[in-house]
Amino acid sequence: ATVLLTGASGFIAGWVLKFLLEKGYTVIATVRSEDKAEYLKGLYPADSKLSFVIVPDIAAPNAFDEAIKTPGIDYIIHTASPFHFRVTDPVKDLLDPAIKGTESVLTATKAFAPQVKHVVITSSFAAIIDASYGNRPGYVYTEKDFNPVTWDEAVTGPPATTYRASKTFAEKAAWDFLEKEKPNFSISTINPPLVWGPMLHQVTPETINTSNDSIWTLMNGSQKTIPPLRVPLWVDVRNVALAHVLALEKEAAKNQRYFLVAGSFSFKEITDYLLKTFPELKGKVPTELTAPEPTAAELFGADHSKSVKDLGIEYIGLEQTIYDLGKQLVDWVK
Ligand code: NDP
Repeated sequence: ATVLLTGASGFIAGWVLKFLLEKGYTVIATVRSEDKAEYLKGLYPADSKLSFVIVPDIAAPNAFDEAIKTPGIDYIIHTASPFHFRVTDPVKDLLDPAIKGTESVLTATKAFAPQVKHVVITSSFAAIIDASYGNRPGYVYTEKDFNPVTWDEAVTGPPATTYRASKTFAEKAAWDFLEKEKPNFSISTINPPLVWGPMLHQVTPETINTSNDSIWTLMNGSQKTIPPLRVPLWVDVRNVALAHVLALEKEAAKNQRYFLVAGSFSFKEITDYLLKTFPELKGKVPTELTAPEPTAAELFGADHSKSVKDLGIEYIGLEQTIYDLGKQLVDWVK
């Protein structure tokens, strides 16, 4: 079967691509530029079932028409969406690429690829959490929760609010499309919180993806004290990527959301583990808290049972993830 994978140059997509090729899928990958395509091609044997379509701007009208007109696509995995907080124009920088990108994938699929059976979309815990409740002790988030953020908050709030809103409105656009347009395909969304783990995509200390940067900055000497927790939930990238592929394959995943979450964490347990495991980082890793970290009991909880039941996800533990990522990052520390 053939899968169109958008945003193949990204952190999560790097693992999705690897798992798809390992499982024997033919992959048509979209990236923003030729050099990103060249890099990914170089990771796999020359006879791999992997080809590329360049989509320079996912917010442009009809951005995905050409890619989706490629004959023979059976499934689509849409991961491309900006995840960073460098916002000068909230609409242009985050909201448009997230929302319009999702809409043009779905519109083009209905118009040009009626044979497509299923579309998997990388959404986020950002589209689940209601940040107005803060730590919300005693509450357990599940797939039933939908972030109630408004457009006004999205365009006037801080970058973190704009980012969360971009994911919320993009996911909402997908469910609205399904309801109004009644296409031939079904949809799944994968909704992870902070995703950490080893990187296969093209990356440097300067361009490291936003989520792994929260571990990198604990290792590179840039933080004098342990930063406050923002999102207290995490998950390994390999669990997230595999969930995208399993969602294509499992009947139960049709028109479902999946909250992919390993558990809660504190930065203190991560810095303690980093110092124990990589003693050469002594002096770089902060040991003092900026502010007391809330305990698990003082924070909302998370229920991942649906992903276990429907997709059979076996969650990787925190030490394994931090070890596998730390091993890769420790070589960057001078
Ligand atoms: P990356 O930044 O590594 O990947 C983002 C991908 O989207 C890249 O392929 C990037 O292309 C592409 N992209 C971003 N903005 C644009 C744009 N304006 N036009 C075209 N392409 C664009 O991050 P992740 O792998 O973490 O993110 C992948 C998805 O996962 C996103 O949808 C993100 O919202 C979601 N997510 C991530 C979480 C995390 O903690 N990492 C948590 C929850 C959800 P390029 O390589 O050219 O920049």
